Amino acid sequence: MKILENIDLYPYSTMRLHSIGRKMIIPESVDELIDVVGNLSKENDPFYIVSGGSNIVFAERVETSIVYLMKIDESVSVSPGGEVSCGCSVRIQTLINELKKNRLGGLEYLYSVPASVGGAVFMNAGRGKKHNLSISDYLTKVDYLDLRTGEIKSLYPTEESFSYRHSIFQESKFVVLKAYFQFQSQDPALTDQLIQERLAQSRKYLDPSKPSCGSVFCQANPIVMRLVKGMRCGGAIFSKKTPNWISNIDNASAKDILTLIKRVKCIHKLFFFSCKTEIRFLK
Ligand SMILES: Cc1cc2nc3c(=O)[nH]c(=O)nc-3n(C[C@H](O)[C@H](O)[C@H](O)COP(=O)(O)OP(=O)(O)OC[C@H]3O[C@@H](n4cnc5c(N)ncnc54)[C@H](O)[C@@H]3O)c2cc1C
Repeated sequence: MKILENIDLYPYSTMRLHSIGRKMIIPESVDELIDVVGNLSKENDPFYIVSGGSNIVFAERVETSIVYLMKIDESVSVSPGGEVSCGCSVRIQTLINELKKNRLGGLEYLYSVPASVGGAVFMNAGRGKKHNLSISDYLTKVDYLDLRTGEIKSLYPTEESFSYRHSIFQESKFVVLKAYFQFQSQDPALTDQLIQERLAQSRKYLDPSKPSCGSVFCQANPIVMRLVKGMRCGGAIFSKKTPNWISNIDNASAKDILTLIKRVKCIHKLFFFSCKTEIRFLK
């Protein structure tokens, strides 16, 4: 286990902000994680879970202790019956490549997403709303740590546990530890083709040229989001190419990003439209 203090959080969020984190703890196994969160709870030290950091914006100085999960379980295994178990620290691309080796598939549309499997299950990562596809489609079980009791428990997904960009884990003090899936059989050549199609589509429609956290809002008015394209604050800008997407074009600060989001929220309020932020802020 590593404990880092007063560190530059630049590598830990895909928004690439030079924020300073007071304390980061990096457990290297589930047992270490249980000890860490137990001790933090005893000390009454609130903490925040960070994985791939592809949906997190850090404030200029983060006082909350960070528990970084990318080292606790990087295992993927596939049983002869095709059941896949996958540790929360595994990158989505690693999982998709493992599936290909085992002639399985179904998640290629997430190949462009810089997420961990734990973060993707927590956020129920998927394609745009109209496609109705998300990682939970293949989930059969999730092992999680219940932070209230310190026990490891299992969830068998039902229709209520997952919806668009939402999982039951977001409402509870739970840490996703391991996900179990049942995928469809798929020819590896088709997997390659679907990955290439996904990457080409993201190059065409998304704005990967500068650091970002993907879609800013999971619910917003499309006309407003088109109108604010190109709106800039300091080093942050609403992408001119992709609606609902903030890019860090010139050493942006958390404040720049927050200002842009506040402006868009104000516009929604002014016209009685509703909006909901997808990006998480950590202070
Ligand atoms: C270029 C780009 C493209 C993207 N495209 C998509 C897309 O197509 N579809 C989509 O849905 N999203 C997309 N996103 C958003 C993002 O990748 C997803 O929300 C992803 O699921 C976040 O995973 P993560 O591991 O990075 O989580 P983090 O950003 O580290 O964390 C996100 C939230 O999950 C919590 N969390 C993380 N891991 C765990 C865990 N193991 N247990 C409990 N809580 C946890 C954190 O506390 C935080 O609240 C994109 C982002 C980028 C930068």
